[in-house]
Parts: sequence; structure tokens; C-alpha cells
Amino acid sequence: MFYTFFGHDGPSRLGVPLFATVADVRNGAGWSLTSARSDKQLQLLAFVSTLALNDASDVPHWYVNGRLQKAFVSKSVWNVIRPHKPLVSWSTLVWHKAAIPRHATTAWLFVLNRNPTLDRLQSWNPDNLTTCLLCGSGLESRDHLFFDCAYSVVVWLLITRRLNLHTAPYSWNATLTWLPTAHSDRYVRVALLQGWQAAIYGIWFERNTRFHTGLTHSPDVVARNSLRIVIDKCYAMCSLGSALGSLLLQIWHPL
Ligand SMILES: [Zn+2]
Repeated sequence: MFYTFFGHDGPSRLGVPLFATVADVRNGAGWSLTSARSDKQLQLLAFVSTLALNDASDVPHWYVNGRLQKAFVSKSVWNVIRPHKPLVSWSTLVWHKAAIPRHATTAWLFVLNRNPTLDRLQSWNPDNLTTCLLCGSGLESRDHLFFDCAYSVVVWLLITRRLNLHTAPYSWNATLTWLPTAHSDRYVRVALLQGWQAAIYGIWFERNTRFHTGLTHSPDVVARNSLRIVIDKCYAMCSLGSALGSLLLQIWHPL
């Protein structure tokens, strides 16, 4: 209070340390403050003399953006102090209530084009090979893998047809545009987001398996494994009482 009223030199002018408590400036006879030598000090003494004090313990009051809070909530404080940026258009495609964390994270990194696809590796080392490990032709890039690649597109179509969607685009940009409008039922759209992320994760996992071990699997196996992870997620949501999990499970209709 002294700091607010007097400014930065308030503590030294009043002889009261910056972090002094009320008890530090009280004694048995009342306030223990230096005599007023300015109008401001006089105003301060006049004000504090009107305060009715009691023996109750101090209670902290938390203000966020000038509004008194019932309790300290770290989320509210973080929202005030963190940098704010405009919401990106793809955020709801990556982060949603039925997302599988490792799928969403992989999709997110591909949206940012930060995963080490061979075209990116070549920009750091021109001697690197860039031929797609899945189809054996074409330059491996994000846009090729999802889903210009003859191998990847089979995985993608197997997953989208499971949702009775038969107009799925193959190009990266067209897919991002299509996902939010692909179906009139919003739960089918959520299932589609699960499927899209599962396809990305499964295809990238297969690509990395080939890169590191040389083992290969058919698109059918990749699609089946990807869908199994999605359906396990829906079962897990159901076991936690999620109505969304139950709806998604009906949409995926596990065999
Ligand atoms: Zn390919």
C-alpha cells in the first residue's frame, strides 16, 4: 500500500521496509509510523487511523486482471501472464476430446512440417537419398506421404471407407480443408479426425520401421493396426464413462 501511494521511494521516505507487514508498523499503542512531513504522509496517517484492526490472521486476496478471485487458480494466472497468439486454423483438427496423444503430436508436427522427412534431411545433407521408402518412387516429403504416395493412399482410403466416406482427397492441403466439412454429423467428423491422425501415425511408423529395420508391412496391416489403436481409445473413453467414447465406438463399429 505504501509503495502504491508514494511510489518507488515510499518505503525509504516512510522508514517502512517494502515487504513489511501490518504487525511491523503496529505497537501496543497503535500505529508506529514517523511523523508526517508532507501532505501525502498526512493523508496516509489520516487514512490508517480510520482502519479498524482485529486479531484475526491475515488472509491473502488474489486479483487477476483487477478482479478479486475466490481462490488462487494457477490456470487463471497463467492465462494472464502467458503470451497470447491468434488461434491457428488447424488447432481443432489436431487437438480434440477424442485425440490419442501420440497421434495428435505426430499430426501436429506434420502440420508444422517439422518431422525429418527425407526431403528435409537432404536440405541439411545433399548426399541423402530422398526416394520414398513406402512406394519406392517419388520424393519423400510430408505432402507425398499424406497421401500422394501410392502406398499411403491405400491406408487412407481403407480408414475413410470404414466411415463410409468415399470422397476423401489425397493432397495434404485439400485434406485439411475437407476434414472440418466431410460429414454433416459432428461425431463422424470427430471419428474422421481420429482416423486421419491414426493414418498419419501409422504411415509414419511404417516408414520409420522400414528406415531403421528394413521390415515392411502391407497397407492393409498398417490400416488395421491404426484402427485398432483408435478403437482401443474409444473403449478406454467408455470405461471412464464418456458418452463421446460410446458414440465413436458405434461409428467405428468394431468387427
Ligand atoms: Zn511414396
